[in-house]
Amino acid sequence: MRIDLHTHSTASDGTDTPAELVQGAAAAGLDIVALTDHDTTRGHEEAIVALPVGLTLVTGAELSCRLNGVSVHMLAYLFDPEEPGLLAERELVRDDRVPRAHAMIAKLRELGVPITWEQVARIAGGGSVGRPHIASALVGLGVVDSVSDAFTPEWLADGGRAYVEKHESDPFEVIRLVKAAGGVTVFAHPAAAKRGRTVPESAIADLAAAGLDGIEVDHMDHDPATRARLHGLADELGLLATGSSDYHGSHKTCALGEFTTDPEVYGEIIRRATGAFPVPGAGGRRGA
Ligand SMILES: [Zn+2]
Ligand SMILES: [Zn+2]
Repeated sequence: MRIDLHTHSTASDGTDTPAELVQGAAAAGLDIVALTDHDTTRGHEEAIVALPVGLTLVTGAELSCRLNGVSVHMLAYLFDPEEPGLLAERELVRDDRVPRAHAMIAKLRELGVPITWEQVARIAGGGSVGRPHIASALVGLGVVDSVSDAFTPEWLADGGRAYVEKHESDPFEVIRLVKAAGGVTVFAHPAAAKRGRTVPESAIADLAAAGLDGIEVDHMDHDPATRARLHGLADELGLLATGSSDYHGSHKTCALGEFTTDPEVYGEIIRRATGAFPVPGAGGRRGA
């Protein structure tokens, strides 16, 4: 049985639609795939409708959190998507985008840049306004030569002069909310140092004591020594150890099913979850 518990679709920053993703998962020989878009469950319905026979979908999301100033991601599986507490937290993260863009534009104006919201919204072309659009506006105004020159400490880089922090959830609160919604939490790529700062093992122990269910061990951003260390840590703390591709489609390097989760670990996840059940594929006959 081949199980991949971490993938992204166009519902967040992946390049495959949810339907393409489940078809790709079946073609890659997977038996079970989890759809875990960033801070949203928007792709689930399309994935369920398109789910091929022989493939089971685990519904989930990857929730953006911050712990002691370090950005961390929590995978949440099989929670009730309508549970109000968790829903409110996901909306807080998502709805933060527009006010945050306004605040960055205000900071740029304070720095003497004649940028306007209308100009940036025009560049976004009706899409949701983000930092790359503000960067393009700075290029258009001749403030910087290129978009990458805008992502510097002088302008829009994390911690830069015109940067505004994202709303990110407290992982302890997320563990509590996911549990209250009947779901299971797994700390995604906890030692992926190339993505930025990581948290110490003591923080993982604190999260485990607060009810964290598992850690993602087998992941492309963990080298073999790191995986061995994390397997040991999971054993020590009584955490489940998962493996997954963190597939994003064509613009990232990991293929569906490149890393997988042990069937026994998967069995334990579904035993613990009470908010939703895995969905077996009906081959497009659902609702017919
Ligand atoms: Zn992540
Ligand atoms: Zn991810």
